Amino acid sequence: MSDRSIKHVLNHLGENREDYMGSVAPPIFQTSNFAFDTVAEMRKGIDNEFTAPFYTRGYNPTVATLRKKLAALEHADDALVFSSGSAAVAASIMSEVKAGDHIVCVQKPYSWTYNLVNDYLSKYGVESTFVDGRDVQNIKNAIQANTKMVYLESPNSVTFELQDIAAVRAAVGEEMCIAIDNSYCTPIYQNPIDLGANIVIHSASKYLSGHSDIVAGVVCSDQARIDAMFRKEFMTIGAAISPNDAWLLIRGLRTLEMRVNEVSKITEEVMRYLENHPKVEVLNYPFSRRHPQYDLAKKQMKGSGGLFSMQVKADSIAQVETFCNNLPSFLITCSWGGYESLQFPTCVFYKDGKSEKTDLPWNLIRFYIGHEDPKEIIAEFDRAFSMI
Ligand SMILES: *Cc1c(COP(=O)(O)O)cnc(C)c1O
Repeated sequence: MSDRSIKHVLNHLGENREDYMGSVAPPIFQTSNFAFDTVAEMRKGIDNEFTAPFYTRGYNPTVATLRKKLAALEHADDALVFSSGSAAVAASIMSEVKAGDHIVCVQKPYSWTYNLVNDYLSKYGVESTFVDGRDVQNIKNAIQANTKMVYLESPNSVTFELQDIAAVRAAVGEEMCIAIDNSYCTPIYQNPIDLGANIVIHSASKYLSGHSDIVAGVVCSDQARIDAMFRKEFMTIGAAISPNDAWLLIRGLRTLEMRVNEVSKITEEVMRYLENHPKVEVLNYPFSRRHPQYDLAKKQMKGSGGLFSMQVKADSIAQVETFCNNLPSFLITCSWGGYESLQFPTCVFYKDGKSEKTDLPWNLIRFYIGHEDPKEIIAEFDRAFSMI
């Protein structure tokens, strides 16, 4: 674990520039395999697949630089980097459970996490209970004799409900594995390991890469867990990041701290406008004073970034669509965490006024505010509100 500043980690940690001819940007080791001079050397190499160059699925120097930075950012011993956030979630959960075990998971986690825990893992005999994690008592009550892990997402990424991470640790005891998807906060705003979590997961497709140009995932944990996960889920399922994407992720990380701080500032300003708008029915943003868990958010998180959702006062889905279609800065799509602003209206799941795919209300829209002029964004909202 590194005790250096975030800025040192982002700029210097793990770069090994002296080994790479003083190269300021890290080289991209765009190779699948690494050759040895002799059979004896290869025999040694095959024992160190995890820690030295042999085959890129296991170890690659560009990825190694990235892993050092990510582990240090999350105050973890080590990190693994996957080809998607979902692969990172799956490896984390599958490494902790076997047939007959039980998982306690927060309600409304990321959609593919829900599908994994609720549906896919049941085919291997893994049971699960989903609970409202806003009250830690619900988590405690759901623990069974065969519960092997508690899976958190604080806040989750559509309705932004929080769990008190330190209180969950206190409630479930020291032995229980706690994993948490920390994509919303990034390591800049929340370090769950310091609050008692064992495994921290990120979709690096969001803030960590920050430019909407790669799909990647991260797991940070203690050395024993990372070693076990490497040998089993990581190497067998094989969802490793490519050296080129690892390089893009290192490049994105350079500006992580300033990017999240900047979008937080912009979003705060837009929040002050939305908080008082008569056509906003519900506003979900942890750092909004109207958020029912505002105090916990302030206690546990250092910032809240650019992601929020709101229910607009509209009479029909058609009105919601009019509202959304008239926000030209907000691209209509999934994802978040880049430079550009985005919107994901829940009504895309609705056909003929009904939805089998979601329990979320049709007037809920998730927004991400990127690097924008807040006055321009407020003017756009103003105009779109006037149309409904
Ligand atoms: C996007 C996302 C994921 C999945 O990550 P991918 O990189 O898209 O596979 C997991 N958790 C959260 C909170 C996300 O937003």
